Amino acid sequence: MSSIPEFIDGLKTKLDNLDSAGIYKNERALTGAQQVHVHAGGKELLNFCSNNYLGLANNEQVINAAKSALDQFGFGMASVRFIAGTQTQHVALEDKLTSFLSTQATILFPSCFDANGGLFEALFDENDAIISDALNHASIIDGVRLCKAQRFRYQNRDLADLEIQLQAASAAKNIVIVTDGVFSMDGYLAPLVGICDLAEKYGALVMVDDSHATGFIGDGGAGTPAHCEVQNRIDIISGTLGKALGGASGGFISSRHPEIVQMLRQKARPYLFSNSVPPSVVAGTIAALELISSNPELAGKVRENARYFRALMVEEGFDLLPGVHPIVPVMFSSEHVAAAMAKALFDRGIYAVAFSYPVVPMGKSRIRIQLSASHTFDEIKECVNAFVDAREEISV
Ligand SMILES: *Cc1c(COP(=O)(O)O)cnc(C)c1O
Repeated sequence: MSSIPEFIDGLKTKLDNLDSAGIYKNERALTGAQQVHVHAGGKELLNFCSNNYLGLANNEQVINAAKSALDQFGFGMASVRFIAGTQTQHVALEDKLTSFLSTQATILFPSCFDANGGLFEALFDENDAIISDALNHASIIDGVRLCKAQRFRYQNRDLADLEIQLQAASAAKNIVIVTDGVFSMDGYLAPLVGICDLAEKYGALVMVDDSHATGFIGDGGAGTPAHCEVQNRIDIISGTLGKALGGASGGFISSRHPEIVQMLRQKARPYLFSNSVPPSVVAGTIAALELISSNPELAGKVRENARYFRALMVEEGFDLLPGVHPIVPVMFSSEHVAAAMAKALFDRGIYAVAFSYPVVPMGKSRIRIQLSASHTFDEIKECVNAFVDAREEISV
């Protein structure tokens, strides 16, 4: 057995190894609110790396709704939902999400990580099978691990492989296919029509984690099921309040089967054993959903900004992964080039992050740009100019 100092020394070595491998994560502290213009590391920066897709994280109406909720509903709940942690507005937000997504029922969680963490164990057991896309979010991977169901995995968005896995799982009592609606490293959408067709053929349920879509993808911002016109064929949707919907925190599961949500209220452990979403966050999110519904041009603007950035970058000869999503991966030949570009962009006042192995496959290093509805065309142009300039400086 090792001593405590030996254990701590071991941690030091592992941390040093992360650093020398270039994958140690340093945090930059913003001096103010989450928005396009931020200040960090002693610099004024244009922010191109947040999930603030609709620019609602620092929206005045959202903030005012949160402020009045502080007066009316207080600061914290100091309880889980089923004891003393449900206010009328928690129920109102669940109902609002239900109508926003055209489902039948919705349950809030402290985060989408918790929603995915609690979902599978509450609904499935060792007689069942979960078939999961290989690139699904970490919270799905963890949630599946916590469940006794048999596990199958298919290659990212690969319908032929999904069918092979469906056949392999066919002895299971219940089968659920699980996919992200949008894959966050690539900005690619899941092929939901093909997935639903296969699900129908094999009698499987379909679950979509739509965290990078709720609020701005598809008609009315109802997400990838709306975009793919399969809303009435998706059984379970999970999502976050921490991205487009104001970006504070919280998550949810929504379903066209009320019984699924009812069961989660009885069994999902992060719901039963973790605190309620704070009152100000609930009120701010309700305001965000109202703003999205009454201003469809918000979602239109982020899509337009994505199109504009993609067009300018292609014109300048950059290598982009194709698509429509405001996640725009700009590809580079090596992790060194991607890292040098991110640094050169930072020097020019553009805040964006480079991703390399093991977050993305070897040889697929990239800078991930994320557009927001609150970027102006001038700011997007400034970003593109900085890319051109930075490329010259490091001469790739
Ligand atoms: C961001 C994200 C989550 C986590 O959401 P939180 O509410 O921050 O826990 C889960 N799944 C996907 C696909 C995400 O992109």
